[in-house]
Amino acid sequence: MKKTISIIWFRQDLRLSDNPALTVSIAEGDLLPIYILDDESSSEHSAGGASRWWLHHSLNALNNSLNGKLNLYKGSAANIFSDLCSRFHVDSVFWNRCYEPWSIARDKQIKQNLLSQGINAQSFNGSLLHEPWTLLKKDGSPYKVFTPYHRQASTLDTVTPSLLTPSISAISHDPKSLTLEQLSLLPTIAWDGGFYDCWTPGEAGAHIALKEFLNTSLINYKDGRDYPSLNAVSRLSPHLHFGEISPREIVNASRSLSDDGNCEHFLREIRWREFSYYLLFHWPDLPHKNLKSNFDNFPWENNSISLKLWQQGLTGYPLVDAGMRELWQTGFMHNRVRMITASFLIKNLRVDWRLGADWFWDCLVDADLASNSASWQWVAGSGTDASPYFRIFNPVTQGEKFDADGTYTKQYLPELKNLPNKYLFRPWEAPAEVLQTANVKLGETYPLPIVDIKESRQQALAAYEMTK
Ligand code: FAD
Repeated sequence: MKKTISIIWFRQDLRLSDNPALTVSIAEGDLLPIYILDDESSSEHSAGGASRWWLHHSLNALNNSLNGKLNLYKGSAANIFSDLCSRFHVDSVFWNRCYEPWSIARDKQIKQNLLSQGINAQSFNGSLLHEPWTLLKKDGSPYKVFTPYHRQASTLDTVTPSLLTPSISAISHDPKSLTLEQLSLLPTIAWDGGFYDCWTPGEAGAHIALKEFLNTSLINYKDGRDYPSLNAVSRLSPHLHFGEISPREIVNASRSLSDDGNCEHFLREIRWREFSYYLLFHWPDLPHKNLKSNFDNFPWENNSISLKLWQQGLTGYPLVDAGMRELWQTGFMHNRVRMITASFLIKNLRVDWRLGADWFWDCLVDADLASNSASWQWVAGSGTDASPYFRIFNPVTQGEKFDADGTYTKQYLPELKNLPNKYLFRPWEAPAEVLQTANVKLGETYPLPIVDIKESRQQALAAYEMTK
C-alpha cells in the first residue's frame, strides 16, 4: 500500500520560521519536505554561478534543520510531482508563492494538475509584505512610480506577527532523493574561495546578520548607507532572496526598536524590493524589454572588449574597477557602487543594460530577477520610475565623495594602495614622480582609462537624443 503523505515544497523560502506553507503543512500529518532544482522551467533565468554556490549551502543548512530529511530532486517540477504522486498517496501539497513569470506559469499548471487529481494544493505568501495585486491605483491600474506606491503601501502597514518555528516530528524520506552533491551546484573552477569569508548562508546566518545590523549598524544607516567602506548596510539581500528570513520578520524586529529615522529609511529600502517584485509581476517583460519603448532605438555600441574590461575591473577608473572586483571576489557589491558601475557600462561605454544585468546575474549571490532587472532599468533610464538618462554618475567625483579616504577602493585595488588619495580616483593626472613613488605604472600595473569621461558623457547624451 502506498504511504500517505503531505508535501511541503521549499522554493525561495529556505527557512522554518515565519513560513506559512510549512506551518499549515505540519498539521497535516506525515510530511515530505522537498526541494526541486528546476532549471528546465526557469531556462534562461536559471540561477547563476554565485547563486548556485549560495543555494548549495542554504539547502545544506535547511537539511540540517530538518534532521537530514530534506528530499532533493532535479528536473521539471511537473514531472517530479507526477513521479511522487505515482509512488506515494499524496494528500496535500503546500508552497509559498514565487513571482518570476516562469514560476507563476509553472505553478499554475502544477496546481491545476494536482487539484484535478483530488489533491489539496495550496499556496501562500511567504516572501512579501504585500503581494503585487493587492495594491492598485484608484483607477485599478498598477503604480508605475515608487513614491505613491510606497505611500499607499504604508497606509496598509498592519504587519502581522511572524509565525513561530513549528516543531516537526513526522518527516518522511524518499529513497529516490538525490544527495546535495548530485545537484552539482558548486563551481567546478574554484572562484568562490572569497565567499566563505563573507557569508553564512542559511536561516541561522540570516538571523545573525539581522541582529548584528540592528545592534550595530542601523544607527548610522541613513547617513552611512552610501559609503561603501562603512559597515552601515545590512547585507541581508541574499538571505532575503533565498527566503532564509522573511521581510515580515525584518519589519517586526526593526519596529521593536525606537526609531530616529534610520529604521524608517531602512524599511523604505525593503519596500524597494517589494516594488521591484511589483514591477516584475505587472510588467513580466521587465528583464528583457525597455519599459520606455523609445529606448528601443538607442544606438548601443556593445563593444565586446569594453564589456570584458568592465567585467574584469580593468577600466582604468578605480571606483568602477574596485566595485567589479568586489563583485567577483565576494559575490556582492555595495548599492552605490552598483549604481556607479552600471551607469559607467550603460552610459560611458554604451553597452546595453541587459548585458550588464546578465553579468550581475551570474556573479551576485543576491541575484534576483525582480531587483536586478528593475535596478538596471532604473539606472538605464528605461524603467517606469527611473533615474533620468542624463544623470550620469561621474566615477571620479563619486569616488572622491563616497570613498574619500580610499579605504574601499584600495581594498580591492591593492596595486594603488600607495597612491595619495588626491590622485586615487584620477591616477592619470598624477605627476610621474608621484606614480613612481607609489610604484604605479599606468598601462602596466594599472590600466589607463578606456574612455575619456567627458567625451563619452557627451556621446551618451547625443545618443540619447536619437531615442526621442
Ligand atoms: P540594505 O541597504 O541593507 O537594504 C535592505 C534590503 O532592502 C536589501 O537587502 C534589499 O532586499 C532591499 N533593497 C535595498 N535597496 C534596494 C533596491 N535599490 N532595489 C531593490 N531592493 C533593495 N538587489 C538584489 O537583492 N538583487 C539584485 O540582483 C540586485 N541587483 C542590482 C543591480 C543594480 C544595477 C543596482 C543598482 C541595484 C541592485 N540591487 C539588487 C539593489 C541593491 O543594490 C541591493 O539590494 C543592496 O545593495 C543589497 O545590500 P543590503 O542587503 O546591504 O541592502
